[in-house]
Amino acid sequence: MHALDETIAAIATAPGAAGLAVVRVSGTAALAVSGAVFRGATPLAAADGHTLHHGWAVWPEREHERIDEVVAAVFRAPRSYTREDVVEFSCHGGAHIARCLLEALIAAGARLARPGEFTLRAFLSGRLDLAQAEAVADLIHAETAAARELALGQLAGALSRRLGEIEESVVSLAAEVEARVDFAEDVGGVEVPPSVVAGIESADAALAALLERSDYARAVREGVRVPLIGRPNVGKSSLFNALVGEERAIVTPIPGTTRDRVSEQIEIAGIPVTLSDTAGLRDSADTVESLGIERTRAAMTESPLVLWVVDRSAALTELDRALARELAGRRILIALNKSDRPALASRAMIETWLDGAPLRIAEVSALTGAGLDTLRAGLAALLGGGAARAEGALTAGALAASNARHVEALSRARAALGRAREVAGRAPGEIVALELREALAGIAEVTGRTASEELLDRIFERFCIGK
Ligand code: GDP
Repeated sequence: MHALDETIAAIATAPGAAGLAVVRVSGTAALAVSGAVFRGATPLAAADGHTLHHGWAVWPEREHERIDEVVAAVFRAPRSYTREDVVEFSCHGGAHIARCLLEALIAAGARLARPGEFTLRAFLSGRLDLAQAEAVADLIHAETAAARELALGQLAGALSRRLGEIEESVVSLAAEVEARVDFAEDVGGVEVPPSVVAGIESADAALAALLERSDYARAVREGVRVPLIGRPNVGKSSLFNALVGEERAIVTPIPGTTRDRVSEQIEIAGIPVTLSDTAGLRDSADTVESLGIERTRAAMTESPLVLWVVDRSAALTELDRALARELAGRRILIALNKSDRPALASRAMIETWLDGAPLRIAEVSALTGAGLDTLRAGLAALLGGGAARAEGALTAGALAASNARHVEALSRARAALGRAREVAGRAPGEIVALELREALAGIAEVTGRTASEELLDRIFERFCIGK
């Protein structure tokens, strides 16, 4: 159980020497506990909300043992992050001071907060719904401007409001069907009016719109790993370096010398993309199938997208063919490298190997930098970033479910709406009502109205202590 009667405390800033550190206290006894370790002009217990107090942090009942000079910010319930009484101490940065202050607060009666417990309390008090609370963690982990915008929008309640509207319309549809069922108790079958069918369709369309860009939104939020694979010496390391823009991987003219995988993060269409240069696939007969293919498989299991580098200036080999076999049907971008040299590799051959599926191919030269923009645009398109303005479209307030949990719950809600639509007019009204309730359950999981204790624990585990 979430013990809301306990007063919690934690260091809210990252460990290590810094200008300032912040130690946070929240709960019914926050002012009493903080007051016990604070000496200033005003006792904290008498302080108004939204006021700052300069003074000294001391050990409780050891007035003369000062810990540090501090500023205490007082927030009174309900006008605080958690809606409880909150005190935030700013002390000098440095692990030792902040730890002493935290220990003093615990000696005075607080308990150490668990990860995300402040935000959990903001959720439990109703100040944030679950989607908003999750956005707090997303914001902290945001690595690109697009990820930040996405999280900020969700925190501000844009997703929650839209879901609230959809929920409201489905509730009234369910109520209408249920009322007819009750009324027609003895009459037998219940007619579902066209207005209800239209309502189901529009609720479904609204959910579909939230899910439409969820692949891209998830990539923005979570980042994507893109391994560079290909035969030895085709220019994987060179291309990796060209994309990363600095000399990270060792470029060498001797095949098979890239032993370690080197990873580096770049940003493409707002998505944090971690490029990884796989260790060289060596072309000796027995390692082609085993090592090479195994590596490729391993790389593919951890990534939805692979960048296959082919040396355009040399004829294709058996290893290319074996790789193509592995890659068929996968999301791949093909870089035809060494475009500064005459072409020998057959593009048509690659297409045949990959079942003639429409391929994304970019002709590039890692050496001259030609075609790198096309390559980046190809990656953006494959990651759902689409056309040039796609990123803007997402960040300028367009809503998208960006979290696997949300996508799953909303997809379930859509499936239920689809079934309701399907049986409306054919099956008894009870069945339609049941499916509508099922759809509501899916939506409520996102906003957290029906979140189980276990789900909450799983979500808040991801948070930092002190948030
Ligand atoms: P890897 O084994 O696939 O990682 O290949 P490397 O990046 O080590 O490159 C192998 C060789 O090809 C090196 O001598 C590179 O300088 C050369 N190379 C890489 N990219 C290009 C390119 O676009 N044009 C030309 N002409 N040479 C390249």
